[in-house]
Amino acid sequence: MTPDLTKQVLTPTAETVLARRYFLKDSAGNPTETWETLARRVADAVAEVDRGQENYNQLREEFFNVIYKLDFLPNSPCLMNAGTDLGQLSACFVLPVEDSMDGIFTAIRNGALVHKTGGGTGYSFSRLRSKNASVRSTQGVASGPLSFAAVFDAATETIKQGGKRRGANMGVLRIDHPDIMDFITAKEDQEKFNNFNFSVGITDVFMQAVEDDAEYDLVEPSTGEVTKTLEAREVFEKIIDLAWHNGEPGVLFIDSANRDNMTPQLGEFEATNPCGEQWLLPYESCNLGSINLANFVVNGSIDYDRLEQVVKTATIFLDNVIDCNRFPIPEIEKMTLKTRKIGMGIMGLHDMLIQLEIPYASEKGRSVSAEVMSFIRSIAEQSSIELAHTKTPFPAYDPQVNNYSARRNAALTSIQPTGTVSMIADCASGCEPYFSIVTIKHVMDDDRLMMVNKYFESVARKEGFYSEELMSKVADSGTVIGHEEIPGKWQEIFRTAQDILPEDHIRMQGKLQKSGVDSSISKTINLPNSATREEVKLAYISGYKLGCKGLTVYRDGSRDHQVLNTKESS
Ligand code: UDP
Repeated sequence: MTPDLTKQVLTPTAETVLARRYFLKDSAGNPTETWETLARRVADAVAEVDRGQENYNQLREEFFNVIYKLDFLPNSPCLMNAGTDLGQLSACFVLPVEDSMDGIFTAIRNGALVHKTGGGTGYSFSRLRSKNASVRSTQGVASGPLSFAAVFDAATETIKQGGKRRGANMGVLRIDHPDIMDFITAKEDQEKFNNFNFSVGITDVFMQAVEDDAEYDLVEPSTGEVTKTLEAREVFEKIIDLAWHNGEPGVLFIDSANRDNMTPQLGEFEATNPCGEQWLLPYESCNLGSINLANFVVNGSIDYDRLEQVVKTATIFLDNVIDCNRFPIPEIEKMTLKTRKIGMGIMGLHDMLIQLEIPYASEKGRSVSAEVMSFIRSIAEQSSIELAHTKTPFPAYDPQVNNYSARRNAALTSIQPTGTVSMIADCASGCEPYFSIVTIKHVMDDDRLMMVNKYFESVARKEGFYSEELMSKVADSGTVIGHEEIPGKWQEIFRTAQDILPEDHIRMQGKLQKSGVDSSISKTINLPNSATREEVKLAYISGYKLGCKGLTVYRDGSRDHQVLNTKESS
């Protein structure tokens, strides 16, 4: 197959992001790559695994095409490091933290090696004995998970991931750990643990105790003894209060995740990667990639044939990444090669729905999204089963225990934030709705640069309601809702994150999770600044009941430094 060299046009933002962080550079720091040569570098490095096979040349071209045309993008470490000496291509890792000095500092060392290569790490601190538990060798008392987490945080601060990507960590503590209250309140001070997302590992027992207004046990991990009982509702209210204040801690539903553990024979899930979309066993890593759904709408309907082709190519690509990856430490290599997990996700879901003229916050929006996700999951699975035939199933596959067909990859799908790759592809990130439709950047003293969502601009011009004045009003109000110049249909279709009710955010997450996501989903449940604690509580309970494996809420304006803002200024 000859490559389609029709010049791919990238936005100025994409060009800037690429030049700053993705293109290889000469010794003077000037980029030596273009988007086309980068796509070629990545495709060639990943196809190399199949050199000598009959389909080698075809795969090389297919890999190149899906990346170059922005139909599928692998996670950032792959785009940055494929074909280079570093060669570490995965975004996420989970490292065990054993309850000993050696165990703790081994984890810090391993985390440092992962961060250096651009990966993010998740740690469960649940195995560490609680503060003031006894330490036999020194006859002293333990300092507890939180004081050690501060050391992990400081180490991350120092490393800064070789300038390209800051170290990101997830810290998890089970709800039944004796130090849980300190953990829940640890990030009240917004200056602390800045290199961590903290999430409480919530169990079914705890959720049941909340429902029954009962007490539940705290268990000392080093002895298995029940040290105390707490009122479940009081603890739950505290988590909710803090999440209402500034979005942390998040919650991870640990038992829901373990029900979908495809290799229980190897151990239990205790933690996820930093953004929560990938559950992994200790020492597992996973490479991610996202299908850009913005590119699959033709004449008002989804081009499922082309989507199938791209998902097949992407599955082979992600599977190959495992074989050409340079793993940071031998334990990670060993564990990752046993299960060969991949994380195929989506981005541009909202772009797809806008092109189909279906509101994100609607029953139809959810059912179409679920249908697409389920289709992607089934094609990925089919491709993985075919790969198991042409190559081998993942080595840990055990037909006695695992009641699914032999396939090449133990897990296939997860929905990532796509924080940076969606900027390259110029689409809404992951499964999120757009955050704003018109933003204004103050570039010089008085110069206002208006950035209008491309679909909105096109619709407004076509339907004759475009005007600079209206765009300015949309930017100032931060919403398309309520402007009488905009027909009601388009107000619904262009509802953004803040205009969508929390329950509609959760329903979308629940639907996607159930329809086609093996691992989990990174998504923010946006709440207006006026939202009450009761609404946050309802969000958590309904997310749990809908089968979500974790939740992150964010009340507008509740953090001192808000990363995304509808009215940007620079
Ligand atoms: N990640 C990280 N550091 C960062 C951003 C992301 O380690 O600064 C990891 C983390 O595990 C996260 C995953 O990469 O869950 C995917 O993030 P995202 O989709 O935003 O990455 P992208 O590929 O778009 O850069």
